[in-house]
Order: sequence, then C-alpha cells, then structure tokens
Amino acid sequence: MKIKDIRASLHTTSIEIPLIEGKVAGYGREEQKLFVFCEVETDEGIVGCGLTGHFLAHSVVAALEKHFLPVVKDMDPRDVEAIHQRVFKTLNPRAMTGTVSMALSCLDIALWDIQGKQANRTVAQLLGGNKTRAPAYVTFGFPQYDRDQLAEAARLHVENGFRALKTVVGVDKGGWREDAARVRAIREAVGDGIDIMMDANYLFSPVEAKLLCRAVEDCHITWFEEPLYQNDARALADLRRATGIPLAAGQMEGHRWRLRELVEHQAVDILQPNCTYCGGYTETRKVAHLAQIYNLPIANGGGWPLFNMHSMAGLMNGWLVEWHLGMVSVGETIFVDPPSPENGTLSIPDAPGLGLTIDRDGLKTTRVAS
Ligand SMILES: [Mg+2]
Repeated sequence: MKIKDIRASLHTTSIEIPLIEGKVAGYGREEQKLFVFCEVETDEGIVGCGLTGHFLAHSVVAALEKHFLPVVKDMDPRDVEAIHQRVFKTLNPRAMTGTVSMALSCLDIALWDIQGKQANRTVAQLLGGNKTRAPAYVTFGFPQYDRDQLAEAARLHVENGFRALKTVVGVDKGGWREDAARVRAIREAVGDGIDIMMDANYLFSPVEAKLLCRAVEDCHITWFEEPLYQNDARALADLRRATGIPLAAGQMEGHRWRLRELVEHQAVDILQPNCTYCGGYTETRKVAHLAQIYNLPIANGGGWPLFNMHSMAGLMNGWLVEWHLGMVSVGETIFVDPPSPENGTLSIPDAPGLGLTIDRDGLKTTRVAS
C-alpha cells in the first residue's frame, strides 16, 4: 500500500454554550477559531482522516500539502516509524515543534485510521487494546459564566452523568482570589463525590499559582492543569513540592523530548500527550510508554476527544478523555453520529480505524479559504 495524496483544509465553526444566549465564535477560548482537517489517500482506495488544532493553522495546511506530501508520497502508510524518521530528517532535523508537529500529528492520525481500516481493527486496538471504553470528564467552566451560572452548569453536567468536571482559571477579572471563589462555588454545587479539575492554560506566575493552590487546598482538586507560564518544568516541579494538589501538563508539547522534560524534572503527577499536537498516535504511544516506566498515568488535555479516546482506551496507563464541549461540537458537525459518553464513560466505536464517518456537508459548511 502506498500514500498517493494528502488533502488538507482549514475550517471554523461557532458553538452554543449551555446557559449562554446565542452562539460563540470558535470552539473554546478567544484564539480557538480555526482547525485543520486532512485526508490521506492510498493507492488501494483506503482513505484516512486526521485533525489538528488552531495554532498558525494556515501554515499547517500549506505544510501538509507543499512540504509533507512530497516527502512521504509512495511510502507505505503502515510504516509509521519510517515515515516519522524521514519527516524528522528531511523537514525537522533540529527537532522544532509548532507547525511541523501539528502537521505531523494531523498526518499520523490519518495513517493510523488507514492502518485500522486495512486491518479491520480500531486504533485503540492497534495501540494495544487495553480497554474498549474510557472514562470522560467534561470541560464546562467557560470564562463567560458568572459564579452562579458556573454552579448551575456544574449541577447540569452531574445530572447528565459526568463524575468529573474541569473549569478554566486564570482568565477572570479578580485574579486568583476570584478563581478560588469560582472553584469553591463548583465544589459547593456538586458536593464531595465529584472530581474537579482546574486548568490555567499557562497563565499564572509561580507566585500566583502557589497562592491559588493554597486557597483551594480544601476543595480536593483532582488535578491542576498547566498552571505556569511556558510549562516551565523546573518551576512546575517546585510548585508540585509546595502543594498537595496533583499537577498535570503536556497537551501542547510537540514531541517526546519536550514531554520527557516534564518527567525528568518530576514536574507532573499526570502526563498529557495529545495526539493532535504531539506527533499523532505514533508519538503518543512512545510518551505513554515513557510514562508507564515512571508509573505516571496519561490523561487527555487540549481536547479533541474523538481522537484521544483511542489513546486513553488502548494504552494501559490511559485515563480520562476530555469531553471539551467546544470540540465536541466540532465533532458533531464534521462526523455523522460520533460517540458520546453514557454515565460519564465513552465507548470506542466498533468500526475500524478511528470509527468515524465524515459528514461531507458539515465539512463543507465549516470550510474557510486557506
Ligand atoms: Mg488544558
């Protein structure tokens, strides 16, 4: 089997947020307006698809079609080690991240979709088939909510079966004190039996992060995700020693050497390789195995649950899938009847590969010029 073509396209969407009137542009925070979709065609007629997120999205489309295709054309899509090696040697000899990592992620996801369709196995099975299901947490705590809406939305998701909830912090007026009050409002709304995570998306200084940790120590937070500027591994390790709250990070790191930094510095309790950013399933598998050696779980941060569910179910240290409402809405637009969690658990579809069927109309209506 040979790779014959890569077609990449740029897309945007708008979403509805529970309790907020009207539609919100993009699928999450302010900068999350664009995503990249690709299809890889083989000479045997099997086509696989991949996706990556929003950073420098125009450049990712161009990279896939103009730079990646000439390098991987006519290679066997199942030879993922050979493909990654050639991409690194030819396009990324200095192991940069960013656009090149996102393009490789998008391509690699499509390669595993092809492999699964050819072998009649799901990607979760190809990764090792640890489980057929994965628990999910809902990322619901949008900054648009006031405290009362946040509490009401939290109760709503618990009523819908979720046992774990994540909210953003670091984006509200009022600094860490307001964040602490918002987290406390969620805990009071849902009681003690529900997991609560908070995610700062790199927005705190070490001092602010320590103050917030101290203020919510009694709220029994399951993890604090990406608290610090630049995911600074040394500073994360220092924060980890100063707080009892488990730390999680790694969702946007572009390859295994960046994720290794977090492990080597003992900076995290939970490692978060995301297949749409770190180099696809090929790289996620390596990072998951590294994490296994250090007895660390991996969990999904950075969203895109329909892709990361395979890593969480397939690998033995896979844990929670992130049911990110904005990215879920994207999945419902571009795929026909994608899976959704029941009682907080997501079942991997039986269909081979990613198990997803493209909705051509949805893909067309979300497309923008690249
Ligand atoms: Mg995150």
